[in-house]
Amino acid sequence: MDEQTVQVRMDNNTGNSDLAGKPKIAYFSMEIGIDEHIPTYSGGLGILAGDTIKSCADLNVPVVGVTLLSENGYFYQKIDEHGNQIELPIQFVVSDFLKSLPTTTTIQIENREVKLRAWYYPYKGLNDYIVPVFFLDSNLEENTPWDRELTKHLYGGDNKYRLAQEIILGMGGVRMLEALSYNTIDKYHMNEGHAALGTLELYRRFQDVEQVRDQCVFTTHTPVAAGHDQFDISIAKSMLGELLPDFILKEVRFENKLNMTRLALYFSHYVNGVAKKHGEVSRIMFPGYTIDSITNGVHSRTWVSDPFQKLFDKYMPGWRSDPMILRGAFSIDKNEIWDAHMEAKKKLIDFVNHRYNLGMNYDNFTIGFARRQTEYKRPDLLISDPERLIKIAASKGKIQLLYAGKAHPKDNSGKESIKKIYKIMKELNNENIKIAFINNYDIQIGKLMTSGVDLWLNTPRRPMEASGTSGMKAAHNGVPQFSTLDGWWIEGRIENITGWAIGSRKSNEKDSVDEDDRNDLYEKLENIIIPKFYNDRDNWIRTMRSCIAINASFFNTDRMIQQYVLSAYFR
Ligand SMILES: *Cc1c(COP(=O)(O)O)cnc(C)c1O
Repeated sequence: MDEQTVQVRMDNNTGNSDLAGKPKIAYFSMEIGIDEHIPTYSGGLGILAGDTIKSCADLNVPVVGVTLLSENGYFYQKIDEHGNQIELPIQFVVSDFLKSLPTTTTIQIENREVKLRAWYYPYKGLNDYIVPVFFLDSNLEENTPWDRELTKHLYGGDNKYRLAQEIILGMGGVRMLEALSYNTIDKYHMNEGHAALGTLELYRRFQDVEQVRDQCVFTTHTPVAAGHDQFDISIAKSMLGELLPDFILKEVRFENKLNMTRLALYFSHYVNGVAKKHGEVSRIMFPGYTIDSITNGVHSRTWVSDPFQKLFDKYMPGWRSDPMILRGAFSIDKNEIWDAHMEAKKKLIDFVNHRYNLGMNYDNFTIGFARRQTEYKRPDLLISDPERLIKIAASKGKIQLLYAGKAHPKDNSGKESIKKIYKIMKELNNENIKIAFINNYDIQIGKLMTSGVDLWLNTPRRPMEASGTSGMKAAHNGVPQFSTLDGWWIEGRIENITGWAIGSRKSNEKDSVDEDDRNDLYEKLENIIIPKFYNDRDNWIRTMRSCIAINASFFNTDRMIQQYVLSAYFR
């Protein structure tokens, strides 16, 4: 054990658990969003990873996290007056938030030695139990200029760049843990296929497929085919060389490519999707594999706004260490719920007015939509019939709309969505409807929005949304969701009690039809939701309360990680 390891162990040794320095589970994720100051995430996958680590720390689950440094983050999003997205590297002062370790390891990329170091971040849970997270970094003098760039841009670059990043995460991650003397790990959890190459490093070590399988757990995250990484065989062979044995390639090649999902499936003894419906969809996508499901959650105390934290402390002490206690929200006084909500809403509206000078109002019905701007999520569904929206706002009550979300730099239709929202925003803003697009959606804006709006909107085309988690954050703040019946919402929606469905869940489970969904969206807004908000406030607050009691108490990462422990880690 080198000096640094001793140091890390000492940091870890909190005195109340002998497991603290001996993680048994290594959790690998291309992105981890664990702190609003550390921009090494792009969206849902990374936030889930961060929330997972936080719950592990709270529950003393012996996990160590491994990810890439992504020194320039995903990107900082600016938007010009025409709605064009401008992507800038995030300026991130790594050493302000992470501690550099002297330990290094090397991996091979194209038969070249690439040296890696790690940055350390200890996440301390409620009982002072620490989950260490290591951020891998290839920006070292000994490496070639190309290699030095590999841990800078999350999801940047071409296929080759991406495969090199996955070699660093998977193989480099396994080796780094070894270099740091973590020798008690017997489960490797791959959060999405990006980390699948870790299996090849384990195979190199054991030379035994069954032994690797015993140790590997895989969570798949998307029912969208393009979300599953694959690489040309020629690129894979030249990058990996002997690290990719022919007999394994034969097992996991799909459509003549090296498919990372197949690689992870092949080497895992436990595989899951992230909501019940997503489990079903995944079983159809990957016949022949046993695929379970564990529905996602969010880390409760991260996502509850300050005013609701105070309220929960008063009515349900203990909710931080056991979010199931949030069931008790039914006992909270309705006026106090409303006051807490208004405090969170004011904070959001003040922020928006300060930034965009729109004169938004505290009392008007406010709808939030924040997610990756991409076609299947249909960001413009709500404003796709502006005339109808104008009519609804004029007859049923004023509406404020808040949008946010980044489009992947190469997703042109996603970028078009932003432009469309901008265009309609300019045409539509009047005394009854106000719209703002908040640039650079990140953890901070996510928390402000999910806690400060009156209604959380989600419009994915079924069955493309694996789970979705922002609606769970909203539920933690008493904000009901209005969403198509996809992902977690199939499990979380009780009509008119925790929110509302957009469109039906047809028995044949066909894809959503835009026209039907649009009609249903406007119908319910006009005749059920807005009237309830403005004219039946008492009932509205009851709905808010049910969101906390029924959904926040269940859709949290504490419950989720306990399911992983039972189903995946200790079997
Ligand atoms: C919660 C969150 C997400 C994921 O939300 P979805 O509902 O899964 O789209 C993405 N980005 C940020 C910044 C978040 O806070």
